[in-house]
Amino acid sequence: MSNSLGTPGLHHVTAIASDPSANHAFYTETLGLRMVKRSVNQDDVGVYHLFYADDQGTPGTSVTFFPYVGARPGRVGDGQASTVSFTVPAGSLDYWTDRLTDRGLDVETFERFGDAVVAFADPDGLPLELVAREDAPAGDPPAGPVPEAHAIRGFFAVELSLSEPGSTVDLLREMGYEQTASDEANHRSRFETDGDVGFVVDVVSDPATPQGTPGAGTVHHVAYRVTDAEQESWRELLQSRGLRPSQVIDRKWFRSVYARTPGGVLFEFATAEPGYDVDEPQSSLGESLVLPEWLEGRREEIEAGLPELETATPAAE
Ligand code: ZN
Repeated sequence: MSNSLGTPGLHHVTAIASDPSANHAFYTETLGLRMVKRSVNQDDVGVYHLFYADDQGTPGTSVTFFPYVGARPGRVGDGQASTVSFTVPAGSLDYWTDRLTDRGLDVETFERFGDAVVAFADPDGLPLELVAREDAPAGDPPAGPVPEAHAIRGFFAVELSLSEPGSTVDLLREMGYEQTASDEANHRSRFETDGDVGFVVDVVSDPATPQGTPGAGTVHHVAYRVTDAEQESWRELLQSRGLRPSQVIDRKWFRSVYARTPGGVLFEFATAEPGYDVDEPQSSLGESLVLPEWLEGRREEIEAGLPELETATPAAE
């Protein structure tokens, strides 16, 4: 390949939720992730920004939410990242099927491209999947309700629903993704990059998929891992494709460039550095509200404006 830019995969995925306490309970107690950051939406400080990840908050493991209290449900559909999937160790799907069913969730199990998959949805209807893989990384599972042997090991993939996938697929190829499989009956193409966490993007181009609308239970944006040294080159790549990338924005825990892709999905290119432990100790990540220094002067006002967030510590089972 001629270009030297490439991403090893996802950095984080951010979605819209409604009730912050229900969101926290689901991702920590049911799925066994650790809340590694409790902050605010830097563009709308009356709303939390909650991050759930592995024990250390490794890039490629963090699913994050803007929980807008009372948000109306969105519709998952065309022009969106329509499903978020996580890797679990091979042999863990019976455990997960039982665990999710015991908690009253509707689950569907099937095989896709040779992998066993369990599909379900979060409390706001966001479609999620666990994909059982022989090559699941050892990862850094948090202590908590899910036994280490079955714990989520970071992202597996995002699924993009794109009725006209061409230019987004061209961009994915420039980002280092190559097509590895397709399932024409289900309008699905699989792309993989060279990484071990979150290295898969599935593109689904089903003309019957309705247009997605933003709201609770839908993905807000998809972030890929990049290096600091390459950020300007990523901006140039996006500009050369006729997109309108943002400037490099300092998000405190990473630095990001954003661009809306032609298919409608908002992509982010985020650095691994400096990481979620830049502003609080690794041992107490997520336990208190952290604000970037440019918002610290408004802490009292911001705290007063945030909704209640109940965070019972999930116990080992
Ligand atoms: Zn982001």
